[in-house]
Amino acid sequence: MATLENKKEKEAWENFLFSLENKLPGFVSPWIKDLEPVLPLFENSKNDIFLIKSSQSFGIQVLQQKHLKEVEETLFESTNLKRSVRFILDETIKPKKKQKQTLEQKEHLEIAKKMENMTQMHSFCGLNLKYTFENFIEGENSRFAYNIAKMISETPGQKYNPLFISGSVGLGKTHLMQAIGHKILKNFPNLKIRYTKAEEFGNKLIESLNSCKNTSDLNEKMRKFRDMHRNVDVLLIDDIQWIDGKKRTEEEIFNTFDALYHAGKQIVFASDRPLSAFELIPDRLRSRFEWGIEANIKIPNLETRIEIVKHHANLSNYPISDDVALFLAQEYNSNIRELEGAYNKISARASIEGVELTVDIAKEYLGFFEKKKKITIENILETCAKYFCVEKEDILSSARAKEIVNARKYAIYLSRELLDLSYPLLAQEFRKNHTTIMYQHEKLKKDISQNKAMKIITDELSQLIQK
Ligand code: ADP
Ligand code: MG
Repeated sequence: MATLENKKEKEAWENFLFSLENKLPGFVSPWIKDLEPVLPLFENSKNDIFLIKSSQSFGIQVLQQKHLKEVEETLFESTNLKRSVRFILDETIKPKKKQKQTLEQKEHLEIAKKMENMTQMHSFCGLNLKYTFENFIEGENSRFAYNIAKMISETPGQKYNPLFISGSVGLGKTHLMQAIGHKILKNFPNLKIRYTKAEEFGNKLIESLNSCKNTSDLNEKMRKFRDMHRNVDVLLIDDIQWIDGKKRTEEEIFNTFDALYHAGKQIVFASDRPLSAFELIPDRLRSRFEWGIEANIKIPNLETRIEIVKHHANLSNYPISDDVALFLAQEYNSNIRELEGAYNKISARASIEGVELTVDIAKEYLGFFEKKKKITIENILETCAKYFCVEKEDILSSARAKEIVNARKYAIYLSRELLDLSYPLLAQEFRKNHTTIMYQHEKLKKDISQNKAMKIITDELSQLIQK
């Protein structure tokens, strides 16, 4: 442990580990052996928070979630440091000695394997331990955003301020934004970081404004609120699109931004919408967002998706074969959250049922072999109405507007094709006479055979109906 050069410190740390091991249940002890202080012990005395690192993500979760109080007490007893303890994951640390797993520990790991999202643990400043740069697979789709994020975590508040990360849902914006937080914590453990979602920010603001009894109460509550968001070195605000058009929150974000920006603090926003698609924000706030840089994350290509799902599988302690990774990456091609969700679902089930995860098993677990939904006139009408943006009742009426006529003719055609109903029965359902129905069906059939666009529409509708 290079950081514990000083003999006294080394002894104090060993003392702490030894006491902790004695205090906590036996199965925890192999994880305790691997703990290391992030800073030299007594340098920590300047901070309120005591950072402890380890390479064992699950061990950290157990200690943080179940034994934090004992860890803090023991730290105080052995080192005289009264601090809030926070654990950080550092996969670069080599485990001390390959410990033989105890039975109890094995059981815990089994449970962990079966948990859908074992790494979903939030540490002190609201960061998810999984969302680090090390766990982010960089691809062409994210290279620009990734490089800027890295630069920011080396020199926060200096260049690229604010960073505005945009991209559609499930593409890694939150991950990348939190990776900045983790890295800054590692590079500069004294800096204060706050991660919040815009909605949480807005709700807390309104709560502070609404719940006060008198002016001094209001002032006190607002002081606390502002302190929480302005008394930081790095502010990460996620899902900022939420504020668009919410005047009071926009104003508070504007003031928070100015206070932090002028003090040289780093601000990062993430948004499901590009800045250009914000419609209602006031110009002065838009211009603040534009002061820095916007980095857009796009959909990753197949190779990157394969890499992402494999990495996620390894992290979750349940690796998958190349075939299964390829299958998942092909099926889930536009949202990594869904891709990981599919993996979580099938790996949890395979591990509980003790079967080997093959592509066929994956298909079965994901319902690919399930019988197609039962088709009814009702759902043909609903799908066609939705597709052409009309009402179901319009289709059954005699209205002649273009979209309604279109919706009606496809609904009639598909009812005949998919349900094989007789013309008189269809006539009854569609409230028309049966020669009209027959004519409509024959006409569209002919049109489809000659017109590619109409064929595509029919196929799309047919797929939607059967989905
Ligand atoms: P967003 O905020 O854009 O909606 P998230 O950051 O929440 O998306 O990402 C959804 C999930 O996909 C997370 O579990 C995240 O770790 C994972 N993910 C997304 N992109 C990547 C990537 N490039 N490498 C590794 N994991 C990723
Ligand atoms: Mg997000």
